[in-house]
Amino acid sequence: MGTRGGGHETSSRRGRSSGDPPRPRNPSAPPSPLPPRLCPGGGLGVLQPWAATRSPGRQELTSRPSSRPTPPPGTSRPRAPPGPFAAAELVPMALRLAAPLLRLVRTGVRWGGTAPPSQAAAAFDWRDPLGLEGLLAPEERLLRDALRKYCGERLLPRVLHANRHEVFDREIVSEMGALGVLGPTIKARGELLGCFGLTEPNHGSDPGRMETRARYNPSAKTYTLRGSKTWITNAPAADLCLVWAVCEEDGRVRGFLLERGMPGLSTPKIEGKFSLRASATGMILMDDVEVPEENLLPHADGLAGPFGCLTHARYGIAWGALGAAEACLETARQYVLDRSQFGGPLARNQLVQKKLADMVTEIALGLQACLRLGRLKDEGRAAPEMVSMLKRNSCGKALAIAREARDMLGGNGICDEYHVIRHLMNLEAVNTYEGTHDIHALILGRAITGIQAFAPSKPPAPRG
Ligand SMILES: Cc1cc2nc3c(=O)[nH]c(=O)nc-3n(C[C@H](O)[C@H](O)[C@H](O)COP(=O)(O)OP(=O)(O)OC[C@H]3O[C@@H](n4cnc5c(N)ncnc54)[C@H](O)[C@@H]3O)c2cc1C
Repeated sequence: MGTRGGGHETSSRRGRSSGDPPRPRNPSAPPSPLPPRLCPGGGLGVLQPWAATRSPGRQELTSRPSSRPTPPPGTSRPRAPPGPFAAAELVPMALRLAAPLLRLVRTGVRWGGTAPPSQAAAAFDWRDPLGLEGLLAPEERLLRDALRKYCGERLLPRVLHANRHEVFDREIVSEMGALGVLGPTIKARGELLGCFGLTEPNHGSDPGRMETRARYNPSAKTYTLRGSKTWITNAPAADLCLVWAVCEEDGRVRGFLLERGMPGLSTPKIEGKFSLRASATGMILMDDVEVPEENLLPHADGLAGPFGCLTHARYGIAWGALGAAEACLETARQYVLDRSQFGGPLARNQLVQKKLADMVTEIALGLQACLRLGRLKDEGRAAPEMVSMLKRNSCGKALAIAREARDMLGGNGICDEYHVIRHLMNLEAVNTYEGTHDIHALILGRAITGIQAFAPSKPPAPRG
């Protein structure tokens, strides 16, 4: 079953594909009748790999350890003289011996301890500065690679059209189901599309005051649901709607599965959305919808039910938002390497390099944190506040990175062929849904201080 957030687009990190952004436009070049990357059929043309289109002699940002200077041709390194050393040779020899010892002392190695592994082989990879790759299990890397391939080959070529024309492609959900990446913990196959209805027109950040009601009918063994939900991902196309409602008999929040076609149920689309345009968002309107009691979600009693679902989804968002940030970083980096202003590539400017340094740093730190939280989740030691912290951090940082990248692309930054503006628009929604940036700050603030600040505290009672 495809659920909430299905429209959030993941990005491929390494490996270039047909949706790669075009190179900077040359303003003096004659306008082309078609956007440079569009095939006559409207799809995206296959691009050359980045490496193949690089301008010759461009300096790589990736630093590699410098190799030793090669002796000039025809010469060789002098061998150590045999026999007793001449006094003049002892000084350089002593220095040669002292250098590694000094290094050991500087790196804090205790005498008798184990020498640290040589750092000579360590290289800085701007795409993975802190070696996330090495922390993944082989099966995690396989899954990641399969999904990356799918995103690059199948999703990216379709997204420009879908985003531009606000088209939700239902087929994508089935494809992801077949890949086994859709709700992998619940064996979802993507044959049915679901949606998650918590938010209401009058109650977004405070679902505890929801107005949707469920009344039990003992004779028919059914519940009658009345109310409305809004901003629901997939609602217009969903086969099933998971709706949260307050049961009238005990005032507890419970979840109900509503099936498309039930009398009284409608799911109109929200028009004019300028974020997550490739995903259909709508309302769930319930005008006395009668639901059999077996459609009541077992084991979900109170707000812990929806909040438990949200904690899982928010964890996924923490990764996904950084994926969008990575795509923006890669596009901006390539752009400033290719784009020349004031007689040289934009990338040679300090201001530009600082922006890239900030992006690379935030993404690397964020990804390490996501992986750490995932490991804690595996061990059953992840508190919801940890998820709040990373959902908030990833979304906030990714949004800032996307805005910065948009700026670095100049006018081209607002053009969807470069994808950055799409990520930027999408991240605006991602920063809001599943708990806004500020609501997650309040969740953390409550955990830090022990004082809730969601609602104003009651004014002190008047004296006397
Ligand atoms: C594209 C999209 C898809 C969505 N998909 C789903 C979905 O599938 N299912 C679902 O149930 N919901 C979904 N939502 C709804 C989303 O979760 C809500 O929009 C979100 O929770 C915020 O609620 P709201 O829009 O009513 O904003 P409000 O709650 O009205 O908040 C408005 C602003 O006030 C701030 N604010 C609120 N309370 C406080 C406070 N106490 N102190 C300080 N600031 C405060 C917020 O941070 C925000 O900046 C989706 C939203 C979008 C945009």
